[in-house]
Amino acid sequence: MLKIGVLALQGSVREHIQQIQKVGCVAVAVKSTEDLKGLNGLILPGGESTAIRKLLDQNNLLEPIRTLAKEGMPVFGTCAGLILLAGKVVGCESPHLGLMDVVVERNSYGRQVDSFEVELSIKNIGRNIPAVFIRAPHIVSVGQNVEILATFDNRIVLARDRHFLGCSFHPELTEDVRIIKYFVDMIQQFNHTSLAKLDGI
Ligand code: GLN
Repeated sequence: MLKIGVLALQGSVREHIQQIQKVGCVAVAVKSTEDLKGLNGLILPGGESTAIRKLLDQNNLLEPIRTLAKEGMPVFGTCAGLILLAGKVVGCESPHLGLMDVVVERNSYGRQVDSFEVELSIKNIGRNIPAVFIRAPHIVSVGQNVEILATFDNRIVLARDRHFLGCSFHPELTEDVRIIKYFVDMIQQFNHTSLAKLDGI
C-alpha cells in the first residue's frame, strides 16, 4: 500500500490524513526525519507558511525534504504548502523549499473573513470540484514546463511541475477526493520510495 506523509508541524494535518485513508493509502504524520523513511509521497498542508518554515528549521526537516524531493519524491503543497514549495515568493528574498518553478503571492484574496468556497473545473481531474480558499496565495507566473490545471478569477490556483503539485486552496476541507486521487496517480507514476537514502542526512 502506498505510504503518504503529511507534514505535521502546524495547520490542517488531520483532514489530509483522513483523505489519504479514504483513498486507500497509509497516512504518516511527519514530525521528524525518521518519519520520512519509506514514504512514497508527501503533502505540505495549509496553515501559516512563516510558522511552518520556523518549525521546519527547528526540527531540521527543510534539507531532508528538499533532498528527497529532488531525488524524485512527489510533493503536494496546499495553500501555505504551495508557498513552501514555490521557487519564488513575491516580497521574499529567498524561497523556502524552492522546488516548484512558480512564483507565488501570499494573501491574494483579502483577509481571513474573506474566506470562500467555489467550484472549479480542473484540467485532467474533473468539473464542479469544491475548493475552499482561506487567506489563499495564488500563482503569479509559471515556468515553461509547468502545467496550469486550474484558474479562478483569472488567477492560477492549481499547477503541476513534474512530480510537484501545488494549489492555492484546501481540497482536504471538502468530501471530494478527486484531487488527492490525482496526487496518488502521480505517486504511482513516479514510483519513488524514500528509503535509507536518509541515513546520511
Ligand atoms: N496566508 C497563509 C500564508 O501566507 C496561508 C493560508 C492557508 O494556508 N490557508 O502562509
